[in-house]
Amino acid sequence: MEISEIQVDGYEKVLRCHDRATGLHALIAVHDTTLGPALGGMRMLPYVSEDEALFDVLRLSRGMTYKSAVAETGLGGGKSVLIGDPRTAKSPELFRAMGRFVDSLGGKYITAEDMNIGIRDLEYVRESTRWVTGLSRESGSSGNPSPYTARGCVQGMKAVLEELYGKADFKGRRVLIQGVGAVGGRIAEMLKELGAHVLISDINAETVARLSKQHGFEVVDEIGHHTTSCDIYAPCARGAGLNKDTIPTLRCKAVAGCANNQLLDPEDADRLQARGILYAPDYVINAGGIINVGVELLPGGYKENVALERVDRIYDQLKRVFRIAREERITTRDAAAKLAEQRLEEGRKKKSVAKR
Ligand code: NAD
Repeated sequence: MEISEIQVDGYEKVLRCHDRATGLHALIAVHDTTLGPALGGMRMLPYVSEDEALFDVLRLSRGMTYKSAVAETGLGGGKSVLIGDPRTAKSPELFRAMGRFVDSLGGKYITAEDMNIGIRDLEYVRESTRWVTGLSRESGSSGNPSPYTARGCVQGMKAVLEELYGKADFKGRRVLIQGVGAVGGRIAEMLKELGAHVLISDINAETVARLSKQHGFEVVDEIGHHTTSCDIYAPCARGAGLNKDTIPTLRCKAVAGCANNQLLDPEDADRLQARGILYAPDYVINAGGIINVGVELLPGGYKENVALERVDRIYDQLKRVFRIAREERITTRDAAAKLAEQRLEEGRKKKSVAKR
């Protein structure tokens, strides 16, 4: 196994691994460990080049630093990518080799599930390193993150309602959820229990039919769903749904959902603000999963009550973000970044005091 370092400004460590025996070609980026070890998922994609994989791992690991800083998980930001086709290139040996690669960082990077990586794959990784989170609950790990992500989103929506209407009351509020999978489906159920009028939209007709029959949700056609009038529009499917074409057509008061990377371009935050639409930054409102996983690393290990109490703080974090945006007349996207930077700066100061 050959491990070599790639020098990248602003990143603590970026490593490349080639393993001829198993065909492993992977990268790990540790962006920042000021606030704790760098936790972030492992993904596998058929990247066309190492440069493309590098671009992805750098972008994603930096995002994890910000996400954890705002969520106060006590973790830093990192990510890993395997270059290869997840349909054909997976093998137990490949993941054991990946485990050795992760282990080479001695806990500076801690991995978890991400795109095209499942619990089974991580179990093989776990055979060669202890620095794995998000395994099954039976194994003492934190299990499926989706219910915690959903809970965090609903907490975040409460902060959104307060900002819009002065109180966190869902009764009669129209919430349109695009994508009712593991997270969106659970959000829909929770909102119904809280008295909201829930509208759902999904490309999977079977899921839509099942959920609407079971819970009486109003179904909205996928095509043109943006133009449906609602209080909160919750993107819970894919990223990049908010862009220069869709934002002018929105008929909502706020955007607050769990999908990652909802804005296609940074300027989309300005476009939303210009239209008077309150945007709950995606990485702030969807941090429930990472917060839950982070509890595994606390002394004493995973405890659900601790996780729930920490996930609920997403409400407070979003309130802070909205306050900064209001006071400094900046977008909520910039306000979230500012909050993350402040926390990192405080962390750096504490570290340098401790060193003296
Ligand atoms: P999922 O695959 O279970 O659900 C996604 C749903 O979106 C599916 O029902 C799918 O049919 C639907 N969908 C896909 N493309 C669509 C489209 N163009 N229009 C409408 N519906 C579409 O995924 P999930 O785990 O619920 O995650 C949803 C989003 O939240 C993803 O962006 C994910 O990265 C993000 N996220 C998830 C978690 C988590 O804990 N699962 C944590 C943070 C962020």
